Amino acid sequence: MKYQSTRGGVSGVSFIDAVMMGLAPDRGLLVPESIPKVPRETLEEWSKLSFADLAFEVISLYVSREEIGADELRETIKGAYSTFRSEEVTPLHELKDGVILLELFHGPTYAFKDVALQFLGRLFELILNKKKNEDHLAIVGATSGDTGSSAIQGVRGRRAVECFILYPLGRTSKIQEAQMATVEDENVHAIALQNAEFDDCQKIVKGLFANKEFRARNSLGAVNSINWARIVAQIVYYFYASFRLAEKNEAASPPVFSVPTGNFGDILAGWYAAQMGCSCSGLIVATNSNDILAKFFHTGTYERPGAGATPTVAPSMDICVSSNFERLVYHAGGNDSDKCAGLMADFENTGKFAAPELLVTDAARLFKAGSVDKSGILETIKEWHSSTGYVLDPHTACGVHAALELREQFPTGAPLVCLACAHHAKFPDAVEEAIGRAALDEVPPETDLVQLLDKPLRNVVLPNSASKVAEFIESTMNKRRGKDGDSENGRPNKVQKQQ
Ligand SMILES: *Cc1c(COP(=O)(O)O)cnc(C)c1O
Repeated sequence: MKYQSTRGGVSGVSFIDAVMMGLAPDRGLLVPESIPKVPRETLEEWSKLSFADLAFEVISLYVSREEIGADELRETIKGAYSTFRSEEVTPLHELKDGVILLELFHGPTYAFKDVALQFLGRLFELILNKKKNEDHLAIVGATSGDTGSSAIQGVRGRRAVECFILYPLGRTSKIQEAQMATVEDENVHAIALQNAEFDDCQKIVKGLFANKEFRARNSLGAVNSINWARIVAQIVYYFYASFRLAEKNEAASPPVFSVPTGNFGDILAGWYAAQMGCSCSGLIVATNSNDILAKFFHTGTYERPGAGATPTVAPSMDICVSSNFERLVYHAGGNDSDKCAGLMADFENTGKFAAPELLVTDAARLFKAGSVDKSGILETIKEWHSSTGYVLDPHTACGVHAALELREQFPTGAPLVCLACAHHAKFPDAVEEAIGRAALDEVPPETDLVQLLDKPLRNVVLPNSASKVAEFIESTMNKRRGKDGDSENGRPNKVQKQQ
């Protein structure tokens, strides 16, 4: 499998180079040159596999064997999913009335991002071991809260990797911040940006990747969901869920997946799964009041709000520009990189593009969208807690709320699979506001999370400035490389391969 940019600037890129590149040099995103269709007999076989074995089969379709051998890929995947607390990795949990949670939060940081980042952290190590002369990578990522700790857990303590995570100071939950900033490994750098929101962090990161010299000098690697490896790892659980549902009731309509959406990575993986042959009646884009995506699916106009992202009780979705949406724009436009580049240029220049014709294509037909405000989120947590005893996290609650609202637009009887993206213990303030302190106290605490709040923060606080961030990264890389002896070896800074 080869990859190309959504904006046409590069093509014929290998999987490893796509993973290392993150963002293409033309600022587009890397997409596979074709999407494999899985034959019925193969699906039949896949339906009997464990999560890790299924992940191996799915991911293998996107990686050529000459690049990464079967055994090493299998080992990497096994290692990644052995860190999960659930044997099934992503188990289903039936609530009631056809609403089923797909629990994605059983990894080390209690959010779904571990599914991809436990894999990606190990994949980076595997790739670095292959490129023996290219050690010491700078992983640079922006986070609205969950990606950061997930990325950190994926690479902490790995010798050849420095990890720099930018987050908006005061905009994440306290637990999310503690998960990033209390990690003691020397290769971890949690950078809190002052007076910033997630989009500022993301913009700075994209700027660093677009700066060819900086990027080459510091061997930048991307962990944000622009990285194709993250999407590919997330495709797996859509298949896994659809197989488990079919075992229970073969006759049921294909499931609808409701996906709490921010950067559009998770739901895009669902879209790829559906293209590959995963049974699916529809995909619900569930947003909080930062609803640029929901508006697009209602009107065909994609428009950045003037004021930036509004802080909500579901902070991991407080995003107004969804990076991965560009991949859908490309596919829905008929895999047309010129058209995609044109629309993205309109967006960058004017803050919007209008493309209602994209909505009626085959590629876009699966999507429905809904946005949920604070009272909708808190009421949903409260209602499901009182009727089932289950405590939803605020992001998951968005998905459940939107699913119930849109249910009639899908075939009757289609199971509503709501992706449970985080454990509620990560967002105690919102949950307490919804169900009250007393009810929350009855839920057994996740002690490893709560204890983090007592540890000192080791974050670096920087102004919201691209040049200050670049300086910090570069000086840290120089120090760390010196420490590890690279400079004494007289080894020149490595230049990342680019097509
Ligand atoms: C990251 C995140 C989301 C949004 O996922 P995207 O792939 O960015 O759309 C939703 N909920 C939680 C809990 C998250 O951590």
